[in-house]
Amino acid sequence: MAIRRQIRVNGIVQGVGFRPFIFNLARRHGLAGYVFNTSAGVIIEAQGKAEAVTEFTAAIENEAPPLALITEIQTREIEPVGETEFVITPSNGQAQVGTMISPDIAVCDDCRAELFDPADRRHRYPFINCTNCGPRYTIIESLPYDRPFTSMRKFTMCPACQAEYDAPTDRRFHAQPNACPVCGPQLALHKVDGTLLECADPVRATADLLKQGMILAIKGLGGFHLAVDATDPAAVSELRLRKNREEKPLAVMVSDLTAAQNLCELSEAEAKLLLSPRSPIILARKRAESTLATEVAPGNDRLGIMLPYTPLHHLLLAEGFTALVMTSANLSEEPICIDNDEGFTRLQNIADYLLVHDRDIYLRGDDSVFIHLAGKNRPIRRSRGYAPTPVLVKSAGPPILAVGGELKNTVCLLQENRAFLSQHIGDLENLEAYNFFKLTIAHLQKVFDTRPELIVHDLHPRYLSTQWAQEQDAPLLAVQHHHAHLAAVLAEHRLDEPVIGIIMDGTGYGSDGTIWGGEILVGDCAGFDRFAAFEPMPLPGGDAAIKAPWRTAVAYLQTTFGHLPDLPFLRDVEHQPISEMVAKDINCFPTSSCGRLFDAVAAMSGGRTTIRYEGQAAIEMMQSAGGIEGDPFEFALESTDGIFLMAVKPLIKSVAKAVQNGAGLPEIGRRFHRTLIELFTEVAGAAARRTGISKVVLSGGVFQNQLLFENLIPRLEQSGLQVFTHEQVPTNDGGIALGQALIGRRFMEDN
Ligand code: ZN
Ligand code: ZN
Ligand code: FE
Repeated sequence: MAIRRQIRVNGIVQGVGFRPFIFNLARRHGLAGYVFNTSAGVIIEAQGKAEAVTEFTAAIENEAPPLALITEIQTREIEPVGETEFVITPSNGQAQVGTMISPDIAVCDDCRAELFDPADRRHRYPFINCTNCGPRYTIIESLPYDRPFTSMRKFTMCPACQAEYDAPTDRRFHAQPNACPVCGPQLALHKVDGTLLECADPVRATADLLKQGMILAIKGLGGFHLAVDATDPAAVSELRLRKNREEKPLAVMVSDLTAAQNLCELSEAEAKLLLSPRSPIILARKRAESTLATEVAPGNDRLGIMLPYTPLHHLLLAEGFTALVMTSANLSEEPICIDNDEGFTRLQNIADYLLVHDRDIYLRGDDSVFIHLAGKNRPIRRSRGYAPTPVLVKSAGPPILAVGGELKNTVCLLQENRAFLSQHIGDLENLEAYNFFKLTIAHLQKVFDTRPELIVHDLHPRYLSTQWAQEQDAPLLAVQHHHAHLAAVLAEHRLDEPVIGIIMDGTGYGSDGTIWGGEILVGDCAGFDRFAAFEPMPLPGGDAAIKAPWRTAVAYLQTTFGHLPDLPFLRDVEHQPISEMVAKDINCFPTSSCGRLFDAVAAMSGGRTTIRYEGQAAIEMMQSAGGIEGDPFEFALESTDGIFLMAVKPLIKSVAKAVQNGAGLPEIGRRFHRTLIELFTEVAGAAARRTGISKVVLSGGVFQNQLLFENLIPRLEQSGLQVFTHEQVPTNDGGIALGQALIGRRFMEDN
């Protein structure tokens, strides 16, 4: 007796080889019926022996293609019909969009083998791809994911490609970006003035130029990279100069895992992630005996490393480079450049040559960045290979848009239980980034066919994201920055209960109008109490102090002592105007920031007095410390006005004394980290006793600090607390849009 079952599959099931998989699976089980792609997901009707249909249904989930993400399978039995074959029927673009888009995926093993096979018709073709790999999100204009809705629409497939595309058993069956040298996109090498360089093989010509020390702008998957030979100090220095990026580490690409292991110590989990189809950059521990130019990551014991993820990368690296610097093509803090014309104008003072192609990028995507901390890979920047894979949250509800913060901005479109966190957008104060922010919001709403019923923004009135939200015609909700950090951890772990949040951050606008950033909050998505915070200290001149930690150090010392004690760093800085500003309370902003406390301690102890990139003073102090041995500095918890203050003055006093007694940066660093760990454990314990809550979440940019993060977690656990941390979204401001969205969801449920 034949039965017929209708099966609806939701998730990332388009552009990942799902229909050929279903087709082959159905044939294997001897079933008739069809598979059908709608913008609401994949619909299957399968008919055959009851046992075969059941096995088939189970195999859909168990044997799904590697890139598929199944979030839901609904089945119902229907009347059998008189079919004998299983077929794939064409897409229907009318239905409601409830499906998801795959991120861009690194070239698969099959394609890579063909790429280097002289007998293959795609030998050395830099745009080879199949249903298991290649561009996705960056080339999609709207759903359903079909060639006419992608930037591949301008390339008409040749008969050979069309035949693959139409053959259900082919690896390129309905591979939307399918192409070959005859019919597909092509490379072109130009001088920076636009002149085309006639050459038989633009890849080899590019490699030759790189070997001569030239700076190449190379168009990739989500935008342009700037490339130089990473073993050539002069080329790396020249790139830094032209890019206006003085010391921030530059990422490198190496040919394979062995090459990566020659440069870095890699754990098994790091190696696995490097080789994964998502192919992010990993900030890995440098080996001492590296052959790279020191200019690649000066003064840093980590190196950003990645493997080739496009066919073009594989071809280039095969030309015999130890490593290529591959950094986003932009000036510091501007978004990555994607368009050919844009490339020639924006990169004219940076690149010597441009290697471009004619497959348009609709949506830019920077490389994602991960760091392995406390046994897990953690995102620092979640972008190419990840966006727009949703974070699946606990509850469903009306659509909500969260617009994130100001720096490292990302936005989040929450639809049903799917939180679509955008790719990295950048620092909104930059006009290009702000335009990209608006474009990303429009694109997300378009591809997911959603208009938000609520827009959630940061409490900071001057953030450009806040101001954009206020111009929209939709109900608004303002959310405190560190509350959003806390909620982002809850969202990831699908927690729906009050927790203790240890939120250690740079700066964020507080509910009382002062600048917060070192907070112990107790709450959930419905609200929070500020249980404890660092004692407010003055930030002289606001943002100016962030770039010059010595200013913060002077301000903290002046406030602590009422004068400046004799410390070596004061000889090299113009401290007089700053101590006066503090003494007279002119243009000083009180802050509880943990990031600024790091700056002050580092600067007064022989560390960085000015920085070239965010967090540099703290990173260098942490790396010089290398551990947390030694006695903690003096610390205290003081109860004032209903909140506990983590006293800063006694800490500054005892650090100053240690420096005067001859302690150097490594020793101060060890003791300072130890102090924070003891302090946070004590205050979290106090919060737990007061509230009866034993779950603790850690969030905020400071938790990118390995020494603090990896030593705090076990201390908290030893004191009986259960610790939750970020694994899917960044602990920095790149993750707050997710928290904002969940707070918005709860707000709508409660109102
Ligand atoms: Zn492939
Ligand atoms: Zn072709
Ligand atoms: Fe933050």
